[in-house]
Amino acid sequence: MPLVYYAANPEAWGDYRVEIPAALGEFGVTAQVRDTCDDPSSVDYLVYTPAGPVADFTPFTKAKAVLSLWAGVERIVGNATLTQPLCRMVDPGLSDGMTEWVVGQVLRYHLGLDRHITTQDGVWREHLAPPLARHRTVGILGLGVLGQAAARALAALNFDVLGWSRTEKSVSQVKCFAGDIGLSEVLSTCDILVLLLPETPATRGLMNDTRFALLRPGAIVINPGRGPLIEDDALLRALDSGQVSAATLDVFAVEPLPPQHPFWAHPKITVTPHVASVTRPGSAARVIAENVARGEAGQPLLHVVDRGLGY
Ligand code: NAP
Repeated sequence: MPLVYYAANPEAWGDYRVEIPAALGEFGVTAQVRDTCDDPSSVDYLVYTPAGPVADFTPFTKAKAVLSLWAGVERIVGNATLTQPLCRMVDPGLSDGMTEWVVGQVLRYHLGLDRHITTQDGVWREHLAPPLARHRTVGILGLGVLGQAAARALAALNFDVLGWSRTEKSVSQVKCFAGDIGLSEVLSTCDILVLLLPETPATRGLMNDTRFALLRPGAIVINPGRGPLIEDDALLRALDSGQVSAATLDVFAVEPLPPQHPFWAHPKITVTPHVASVTRPGSAARVIAENVARGEAGQPLLHVVDRGLGY
């Protein structure tokens, strides 16, 4: 009987201790699922987050896979002790949550909701009626699981959606771009920019002074991807010059964002505390179980991270 070691956030164990065995049962797998480990050499699968107790994977000599509960794997992908396959989380609940958050943020800026919320001063400003979504262009950097889900939802609302990825993509109702020229095209065309890239050596610092300068003056920036995609000082300069008119940031180079960080008090920045979306135990446990079932059947694992690319 395989041993699944839950080496993730202790506070979520109460959910996963129920959900993982139930999901394994759905896939016809009988396994032991534990949150303690006396003998690492007996573990077959690790369910992992960086908030759990494992940093050294060397003793897990027979582990067939490390199954991340997080979509972003930048904190583990470079771990030299990790020789086992690493699978990232692709959870329908996580995708739905991100889509809802991105659509909410885009609609906030598209409809100009802040002006009505913050300026209720007795003046009747009829000219503030928003344009239709079809006259607003949203650029999404990252057309993976989350980027495509958000892009489809925005396209369904009639936004003009542009997406950018490393390799060429084809997504219905979304104009897809790749490469440096594609990036310039997306940046220089969009009114609202959404970052849904992973943090890798190639994406760190992507939004620097040069890239902010490519945006249309007054563009909006929404970042639920990872903090280091943006150079903080470059964003502050772009906001101060008006090149960027507002930003909503959910993720930061340092989390929690330190209280003295200038983002907190900046009038054009909305800080949200890494809440855009979370892994949902009910649906995530099925993803874990499917990979355990595949591992036990000798089938290829799903969502395996390319260690060279870093995502
Ligand atoms: P994914 O499926 O791996 O998609 C990543 C996308 O980024 C792909 O389209 C990929 O291109 C593109 N990409 C990667 N490197 C690139 C590069 N150098 N140039 C251009 N495009 C590049 O990841 P996902 O599941 O959509 O998740 C995206 C990120 O969201 C995660 O890595 C995580 O950081 C973040 N996240 C945030 C939260 C939150 O609550 N704030 C929650 C979950 C996830 P290809 O398609 O060509 O491979």
